[in-house]
Amino acid sequence: TGVLYLVPTPIGNLQDLSARAVQTLKDVDLIAAEDTRNTQKLLNHFEITTPKISFHEHNTQQRIPELLQKLQHGLSIAQVSDAGMPSISDPGKELVNACITAGIQVVPLPGPNAALTALIASGLAPQPFYFYGFLPRKATQMHQELAQLAQLSVTFILYESPYRVQKTIQSLIQAVGEERQVVLARELTKVHEAFLRGTLAQVQTYFQEHEPRGEYVILVAGKTPTAVAKHLDDAQLKQLVQTQVD
Ligand code: SAM
Repeated sequence: TGVLYLVPTPIGNLQDLSARAVQTLKDVDLIAAEDTRNTQKLLNHFEITTPKISFHEHNTQQRIPELLQKLQHGLSIAQVSDAGMPSISDPGKELVNACITAGIQVVPLPGPNAALTALIASGLAPQPFYFYGFLPRKATQMHQELAQLAQLSVTFILYESPYRVQKTIQSLIQAVGEERQVVLARELTKVHEAFLRGTLAQVQTYFQEHEPRGEYVILVAGKTPTAVAKHLDDAQLKQLVQTQVD
């Protein structure tokens, strides 16, 4: 039987596609891509001519039997999403499960991921942490989820689109209070990469003057954070230490 390779792709900088990822994409018989046109740009850059098939959230159920059959006939398939790691707030998990159930080997490649890339430069406690991904769109569900997240004592990580960042900051303030430390990682690995660090209130004020642009990861300190971001001034630090002692 064939092998399913899970291949992470760049989250901005094309040079982040690993040499092994390039070789794998060249060697497999088929690339299952979230958006074939988007992936084609990457393949062109690396002169990869492997055939593609679309595999996204709207055709997952229909595609899985098709892909399983090919794997069972000995073809190897690489699954990619538009950016970063497959399955992480992206298509993939159903295919992985189907392969595991069918006894087909699943080989993950390490590579780009927005959450971990943001976390290591955030200054917030890198572990333990909680990765949430996108909050639900529906207000009631979102507030329910945020109420749970608010109780965590560990750093938690959200994905968000630029159009909703401001609203999400507002909802976070309602859930955890405006004094909680937050880090926004914008446009990672791209020209306009930037980190915004401060309290939720400070970030809210910042966005009143600067419209959010680009892609964001939102990292929120836990209720009783175990590490403190370096930029904090003395007063903030004291306050934080106080909170921990209390
Ligand atoms: N599979 C991807 C991964 O492993 O990180 C995540 C895909 S998800 C559909 C897209 C979200 O990831 C964006 O809305 C944003 O929150 C985050 N993201 C992706 N690329 C990013 C980047 N270059 N800078 C900041 N956030 C990014």
